[in-house]
Amino acid sequence: MRSLRELIERVSGHAITSVESEGDAGLAEVLPFPFLAMVGQMEMKLSLLLCLVNPSVGGVLLVGPRGTGKTTAVRSLIDLLPQVPRSLCYYGCMPEDVESGGMDAVCPDCARKYAQGEPLSIMDRVRLVDLPLNARLEDVVGGLDERLVVHDRVRLKRGILAQADRNLLYVDEVNLLSGDLVNAILDAAAQGSYTVRRGPVSATYRSRFVLMGSMNPEEGKLRPQIMDRFGLRVVVRGLSGIADSDDCLEIYRRVHAYQQNPRQVVEQYTPETSLARDEIQTARNLLPRVTMPDSVARLGLNLIGDLHIDSLRAEITLFEAGRAYAALDGRLEVTPADLAEVAPMALRMRRSVFMAEYFAGQDKEETELHDVLAKTFIPGTPDTSLHIGG
Ligand SMILES: [Zn+2]
Repeated sequence: MRSLRELIERVSGHAITSVESEGDAGLAEVLPFPFLAMVGQMEMKLSLLLCLVNPSVGGVLLVGPRGTGKTTAVRSLIDLLPQVPRSLCYYGCMPEDVESGGMDAVCPDCARKYAQGEPLSIMDRVRLVDLPLNARLEDVVGGLDERLVVHDRVRLKRGILAQADRNLLYVDEVNLLSGDLVNAILDAAAQGSYTVRRGPVSATYRSRFVLMGSMNPEEGKLRPQIMDRFGLRVVVRGLSGIADSDDCLEIYRRVHAYQQNPRQVVEQYTPETSLARDEIQTARNLLPRVTMPDSVARLGLNLIGDLHIDSLRAEITLFEAGRAYAALDGRLEVTPADLAEVAPMALRMRRSVFMAEYFAGQDKEETELHDVLAKTFIPGTPDTSLHIGG
């Protein structure tokens, strides 16, 4: 990848110009730290961009201690998000539903609109939807809407998982999420939709989201089922992973400048940010035409086999991330170099510890077994001659 990667490397290397203090204007407005102003952390940045280009990559999990910029990086995506077609309807009906499943595949309102040639969807920017740790199950999947009960008709309100349809769903401290919320996410992710029933009312919502999570491994493990749901996995090492003391100083300068005057820092990066957003949209438009030759796919499968990874999702993620990488470089064919670039992100933390220990134990037994067999049956060894001599 040249253009976008070069842009990121170049801009990330610029020293920030000094800003004037804004004083305490009491501003509550949140301006995300610019993505391009983050120093280093190339793998983290790349993993996030690949997810924006290709939702089939399956999202990303950022693993690292506190204060390494994981949350900042995810929030900074807000200025880079591409456009997607989005339903105008409460139930998420789309024109392609009618095309594939007929008029019964959409709600009566949308069927009428479709028949009259009215649009069912518009182009809209992808959103970053937060799933806070303290959310209730009812907030996440949806529940009865009290305001609507008054009108004699009970209606369900959309939960966070429905709002996340065709968006990014971000869970910070995902390893601390309660079991029922994890299950709700896994169900929705597996089906791309989910159904809520409350008494006589039920509704099915689309929920095709890109899952993004961050976690501090010091605070607890992540359940294997949800771990497997994350396509890419990045280990974020923070300052200790940055050898260059000039970089450390530059990070300090930028964070300090941002705290003094977020608006001026954001403005310094605005032209490059909009350039990067265009590159991402272009790559996204190119993606459907990006293919992978069989020879390259075989390389990927061999790699997964040699690493003893036993997850179909590893394969999907590796190939889809390879396609996204090629698209970001403006190419229509995935090369071995593309796979090599994305493989660490797609394949790390894929091995089951249980299975690895099981196989290691089995290997030990096999070695002992063959040692004893060799001693017993190969002539000329001391043991054998002893037996023959006796
Ligand atoms: Zn509808």
